[in-house]
Amino acid sequence: MVKVRFAPSPTGYLHVGNTRTALANYLFARKEGGVFVLRVEDTDVERSEAAYEAALLEDLRWLGIAWDEGPYRQSDRTDIYRAHIETLLEKGLAYKCFCSKERLEEMRKQAQDKGEPPKYDGTCRDLDPDAVRDLEKAGAPYVVRFRAFKKVIRVRDLIHGEIQFPADHVDDFILLKQELTPSYNFAVTVDDMLMGITHVIRGADHISNTPKQIMLFQAFGQEPPRYAHHSLLTGHDQKPLSKRHGATHVREFRDMGILRQALTNYVGILGRNVPREIMDEEELIETFSLSSLSPSDSLFDLEKLVWFNKEYIRKLPTDSILLEMGLPAAYRDKIALLQENARTLGEIRQFLDIFEGTGIEEEGSAYLSEAKNLSAVVASLDDALKDGVMSFDEILKKLEGTGLKKREFFMTLRVVCTGRKNGPPLKDVFPLIGRDMITRRVSWVKTRFSLP
Ligand code: GLU
Repeated sequence: MVKVRFAPSPTGYLHVGNTRTALANYLFARKEGGVFVLRVEDTDVERSEAAYEAALLEDLRWLGIAWDEGPYRQSDRTDIYRAHIETLLEKGLAYKCFCSKERLEEMRKQAQDKGEPPKYDGTCRDLDPDAVRDLEKAGAPYVVRFRAFKKVIRVRDLIHGEIQFPADHVDDFILLKQELTPSYNFAVTVDDMLMGITHVIRGADHISNTPKQIMLFQAFGQEPPRYAHHSLLTGHDQKPLSKRHGATHVREFRDMGILRQALTNYVGILGRNVPREIMDEEELIETFSLSSLSPSDSLFDLEKLVWFNKEYIRKLPTDSILLEMGLPAAYRDKIALLQENARTLGEIRQFLDIFEGTGIEEEGSAYLSEAKNLSAVVASLDDALKDGVMSFDEILKKLEGTGLKKREFFMTLRVVCTGRKNGPPLKDVFPLIGRDMITRRVSWVKTRFSLP
């Protein structure tokens, strides 16, 4: 049976790139009738925070990415990793290394100067067992390193195809850090092995870790899982997606008023060959396959996400939008009108000031200050309100009766009535604004522009 995992590190908020990993695992598990595990990788004690873990879970729940097992937390599994370290030490496949931080730092610098990746030089690889015992007795700090195999590693990646790593790619990397917590590569391998993970689906930034993990599987005499490394996301400049490109965290999108359906739909089809763009969860699952994922980087386009959002806002029942926005049923007609054209829920919220705001927003006010027909429009509107006329057609007739041209006065009328230069069709929004609000705006405009 297929078993996959999403293994975020709680060192920040859920990023859209990581969301893609989560979603790919989730869709694959659902498609294959498999199990989706959530595992929190908090071995980096300094950077991991409980608050980020809580936020990750909250964001996944909000997205509707439901896990079947977990969340497991690596910090709860320290004993398991230590026991597995012992196994490798006993088998002679790992060794204790007493090299000082300074020496390692020096080596790293030298490699850097030569433009080479830093590699451990194997100084402690063959220390005499007595020397090791003495050092330990003396309380010398140590790490445990893997006695890496010097052999070529081949992986048949389910997205990238065959990848080959040369025999010297993997050095004697650290398994257990000085504070006796496991390294990322060690904890991941032990967990993937014990949890029976069949497919590792993650970002291409982990490709270079894969040979290390495969070697560890071999060291434990186990078959490694299949690997599928999806491409990474970029901005319009083709650089890796980062803060510089704007919003990148799920909660930033949520705060902007992006619907979860739009975000999962867009992220769920990024870099994929799909029969159509708009797909609900069922269709996303149905059409999912690892081979439909492109090995090349994918553009994350906020405008495109907003396009999806607009589609979903329009399609969703008004009651769902009310629920999303925490608004009572009294707003139904207003929201039904605004959802026709809104790009985000945030925009809907802004446009609600048509019905609730006082006065005129800045852009509208700037328009009115230039509008030659303002006093005529205001006077007619004032008259109409006094006469108790509230039908939009009648008000139009009244204005046209003054000799004003509809085309010319329409924007002025819109701004005076709604407080904005743009919004839903005036004839639709007008009846929802209500006499009181329009009367208030008219007197606001009169005071502001010193009209009689
Ligand atoms: N914890 C790793 C990360 O957040 C993921 C490790 C993996 O998927 O193997 O990048």
